[in-house]
Amino acid sequence: MVGLPTGDGEVIKAVFLDVDGTLYRSREYEEHLLSQAVSVIAELLGIGKHEAFRKLAETKKIYKTVSKSVEVLGISRKVFYDKLADKVKPSEYIRRSDEVPQILRALRGRGIFVGLHTNSGRKLAKKVLDCLMVSDDCYDFIVTSDEAEPKPSDEGYRLLLAKAGVRASEALYVGDRCDVEVAPAKKLGLKTAIIHGGGCEFADIILTDIRELLSFV
Ligand SMILES: [Mg+2]
Repeated sequence: MVGLPTGDGEVIKAVFLDVDGTLYRSREYEEHLLSQAVSVIAELLGIGKHEAFRKLAETKKIYKTVSKSVEVLGISRKVFYDKLADKVKPSEYIRRSDEVPQILRALRGRGIFVGLHTNSGRKLAKKVLDCLMVSDDCYDFIVTSDEAEPKPSDEGYRLLLAKAGVRASEALYVGDRCDVEVAPAKKLGLKTAIIHGGGCEFADIILTDIRELLSFV
């Protein structure tokens, strides 16, 4: 496997990327996603949207992620994400661009294992990846919350490391949330990059645009 030097003698052989907020940014889609998530929670709990919004906000304050929050509210993560996938229309909010697939293919072309790691369910993740024109040939493996406990659990990271067949120090994790995803990656010994997120004490690299990734690895 070809690797790229990181500047500290180690070679990066795998790059694992978060999807939402990392491969693309869309405030409008985030708002749409939140409002649809609230609708799904209201439906599944048989309560009003106002009440569902309040419950989600309060739970998320403590548990940080939507994935964990819905479980704490007594909803199956799989049922939640499947219903959410049916409701959301990412294509109306996310700008199509061939830039992201080109970057991922370029990484793979350099012999780097490309993994995607999202807390979304598989069906919703695929819908978003379709919008981004990220087809199956753009990555080697994807971990969704259908395959592993969502971040900040280390299960997904470990699964990706096993699939890539690399040591933690040979992998770079790229995400937009410091505490929820960059911190656990750092704790496992991966190299880390925060993107679109400003500062993060657990990040080795700060990226302002996904395009910069190619010059760093
Ligand atoms: Mg994200």
